[in-house]
Amino acid sequence: MDNYPAGVTGTEFAIAGADREYTEERTVSCETVGCDAYGLQTDEEVSLSSYGSQEWGTWTCTACGEESDYESTVEDDEGGDPDYLYETRRDEF
Ligand SMILES: [Zn+2]
Repeated sequence: MDNYPAGVTGTEFAIAGADREYTEERTVSCETVGCDAYGLQTDEEVSLSSYGSQEWGTWTCTACGEESDYESTVEDDEGGDPDYLYETRRDEF
């Protein structure tokens, strides 16, 4: 029972593995200094894994070829309108 440090249950994705793996388009921006697309938001195919409400993965910038990490939170399906969620999230920036 006590094989894990305090606060770790053993069900974390780092231990238990991802729930799902998929590839989808996500809005990302390259953070490689010197890249032509630096800081620009673009839609790229991201190889994603998800666990619970978290998803993460990697994508490759088409401008500079650098691989970047992607991490986000997946909203639960509560009849939410994707456009509404997009607008809501965009206001956070
Ligand atoms: Zn880039």
